[in-house]
Amino acid sequence: MGKKEILEKFSADPERYYKVRLFEEKGFERKSCATCHRYFWTMGENRTNCPDHSDDTYSFIGNPPTKKRFDYTQAWKEVESFFVKNGHTSVSRYPVVCRWRDDLYFTIASIVDFQRVMGSKVVFEFPANPLVVPQTCLRFKDLENVGVTGKHFSSFCMIGQHSIPNDHGYWKDKCVDLDYRLVTEQFGVDKNEVVFVEDVWEGGGSFGSSLEFFVKGVELGNAVFTEFQGDLSSYKTLDQKIIDMGAGLERFAWITMGTPTAYDCCFGPITGNLVQQAGIDANSELLVRYFTEIAKNLNRFVDLSEVRKNASKSAGISEEQIKKTIIPLEGIYLIVDHIRTLIFAISDGALPSNVGGGYNLRIMLRRIISTMDRLALKFDMNEIIDAQIDYLKNTYPELEKTRKDVKTIIEIESGRYKNSKLRMQKIASKLNQKPTVDDLIRLYESDGVTPDYLKEMNVISEIPSTFYTKLSELHQSKKSEKQEHIPLEGLAETELLYYDKDPKEFDAKVLKSFDKYVVLDRTSFYARGGGQEPDHGKIAGFDVVDVNKHGNIVVHELKGGIPKEGETVSCVVDSKRREGITKHHTSTHILNSSSRNVLGSWVWQHSAFKEEDHARLDITHHSALTDEEVSKIEELANAKVKENIPVTIQNFDRGTAEQKYGFRIYQGGIVPVKSVRIVSIEDFDIEACGGTHVKSTKDVELIKITRTKRIQDGVVRLEFVAGKTAQEYVKKHEAELTKASAEQTAKEQRDKLREERKEQAREKILDLLRQFYEMDVKALRDNKFHLVVDKSRKFVFTTNDQFDEYFHINFGKELVKQDPRIVYCGIFDEGEKVRIIIHAGEEASKNKKAGDIAKAVSQILGGSGGGNPEFAQGGGSDKSKKDEAINKAKSMVLG
Ligand SMILES: [Zn+2]
Ligand SMILES: [Zn+2]
Repeated sequence: MGKKEILEKFSADPERYYKVRLFEEKGFERKSCATCHRYFWTMGENRTNCPDHSDDTYSFIGNPPTKKRFDYTQAWKEVESFFVKNGHTSVSRYPVVCRWRDDLYFTIASIVDFQRVMGSKVVFEFPANPLVVPQTCLRFKDLENVGVTGKHFSSFCMIGQHSIPNDHGYWKDKCVDLDYRLVTEQFGVDKNEVVFVEDVWEGGGSFGSSLEFFVKGVELGNAVFTEFQGDLSSYKTLDQKIIDMGAGLERFAWITMGTPTAYDCCFGPITGNLVQQAGIDANSELLVRYFTEIAKNLNRFVDLSEVRKNASKSAGISEEQIKKTIIPLEGIYLIVDHIRTLIFAISDGALPSNVGGGYNLRIMLRRIISTMDRLALKFDMNEIIDAQIDYLKNTYPELEKTRKDVKTIIEIESGRYKNSKLRMQKIASKLNQKPTVDDLIRLYESDGVTPDYLKEMNVISEIPSTFYTKLSELHQSKKSEKQEHIPLEGLAETELLYYDKDPKEFDAKVLKSFDKYVVLDRTSFYARGGGQEPDHGKIAGFDVVDVNKHGNIVVHELKGGIPKEGETVSCVVDSKRREGITKHHTSTHILNSSSRNVLGSWVWQHSAFKEEDHARLDITHHSALTDEEVSKIEELANAKVKENIPVTIQNFDRGTAEQKYGFRIYQGGIVPVKSVRIVSIEDFDIEACGGTHVKSTKDVELIKITRTKRIQDGVVRLEFVAGKTAQEYVKKHEAELTKASAEQTAKEQRDKLREERKEQAREKILDLLRQFYEMDVKALRDNKFHLVVDKSRKFVFTTNDQFDEYFHINFGKELVKQDPRIVYCGIFDEGEKVRIIIHAGEEASKNKKAGDIAKAVSQILGGSGGGNPEFAQGGGSDKSKKDEAINKAKSMVLG
């Protein structure tokens, strides 16, 4: 079913689908566009074309159709006060990071705020009816248009006007009436300027008619009336019809200000200040001409460069003016837009990275830096962030709290980009031919080289218009996991005993048993879920090895056999295992909040795993953790354990829980049920969680982080133990520490002894040299020195065990200096080995080289040795051959 067919059907019956009370009362006329034949409703008598094909398109630029001027934040105040005085509740915006939907990273429309997925169905939950919300929405598929077209943003405020027709809410008539009065009464647009165009909307299995409203060719909003379910061949009216009117706040501000672009009035004074700072001559008459032409040409060409070429031609703008004014302005527009988006995304807990939704944030920050570099704009990023938050906090006061965190993240991420520039430069310099869109995507995905960088480096002149669309399609939605199919049709939901009395021994009836699986009518076995591992134990005497939930049915996997269907069986849960798992689960909550307190507001649980004797928590964080950070997290966690804070569990209606605690409760992901189980450790940690928990924090005894690791870009893993395991870990760790310190002491003592011996040896060396000089034979013999003389050859050796390597090296050296005819040989034990050191005096070495002697002698000792003619060493392991070794040396010297 296509939109075209639905539109044809609805437009064939305008009385039923489009004609609202307002059109009747005010005398709106229904016309068909002379160019495209679309139907529209107007009070303007001379209007023959739809807004897309009218001559007055974008004529508000430089000539706004209202007397009042409202910039961005003022425009919201006008919208809000209008709807509030007309019975609407003004609701604060929802996070831009869409924590309550599995299929979206970011909030893309105001209606998404109220959509909750239950199985394959989308249900709507409104905190009030009717309501209005200033919802910041992020959209990345038109990124290349941002800054260029005058009206495209990477994030914008969607004014969401939502209503369910019932005692409080309204349907089409009142909706269109309100929208018309908002534009005419509140904003002061002439009634003849408002045009409603017939359209339809379809998605998610439902559809309905819609009326888009335009002023001067600009679509201000679209009122969608979601009314039917199914498709054209077979559909029925929805039980819950919904009005989904979304309007662009940026457009409302722009049309009353009449500035050349929407960027000039939607960032308060920031754009103007930057233009001034950059010294750009922003001749407003020229800009009005150029951007009006851009707006007109946007519908005519697909390719953005064609749009620009034609616009500058029709506006009569020279190359010089494009270069000096338009290009730098486009850069400034891009910078202010992208920074605003990053502020919202980071404030709501998203981090730039190379995975998931973080992709878009990283690429935007890199665009900002590349653009500044390319245009030599020297802006202070922190100043722009401050100015934006100062301006936005009027509408979004919550941004104040994350001001510092936003700056931290942007600084870290900018630093990373600058560090990778050298590598990017190398890659860019190797590109010789024009890269295709796929090449560009690959370059970014695998090497982090952005097309904006290539533009900055003049490798490409333009970024292909499909690049960002393609990239954002690749990274838009998350994949959901598939579960293996187990035949459970017709079985009743399992009664879950672990949420109530939680008996560790119970009887239950076998509803189904097949292969190795058993389904009971009730169970106290916790089924794997939320990162908590399943219980083990026994069912009818068989070991329970795994437990999983399939929908609301718990399936137990047994080992060794299965009971018969219809039997009543006795079941025992392994309570020791459960206790260990439970302690680790509560500890995960404590560590999660401790990490956020220590590191920053961007910390969210990415995933978690809790076993009997260990657990891990993956958190979103930009860098690997330092030892100091780890200790701080651990200290805070254990302080909370000591405080013995009660862990309370309460069930809430999902909408109530979200309003009361915010979306922080979704640490473990979305909750696909209407009633959420809130686990709170006072206000330190509040999470929606289906796991088992201790009664009070002291029950977890102790939390020890055993290891941390950066497991992917933007995600850090904390491995930890709690309870008994933590106590044992600490004991073992302490024993290890004691052992290590004993080893250290022993080593220190050995070193000290060696030093002392060295000191003694030094004195001894002098003493012995004197004895040799004086040929004090008795003293030499007492020191176990042997001197063998044959003609002019002299061989001196000692086997005195008191001498070590240090002694022999230094003594021998001096001795042969004193008498160059001597060959000196010191032989000594060193642990399991026997070592030998040989010095040959200058003259003696001419006869026999020290190296040769060491080699031969070592062979006898069962080892190896060698050196130069005057000094050599060696040894072996055969201590019994010492005498033989000495004799060999002697005979070599004297023989
Ligand atoms: Zn038309
Ligand atoms: Zn939990």
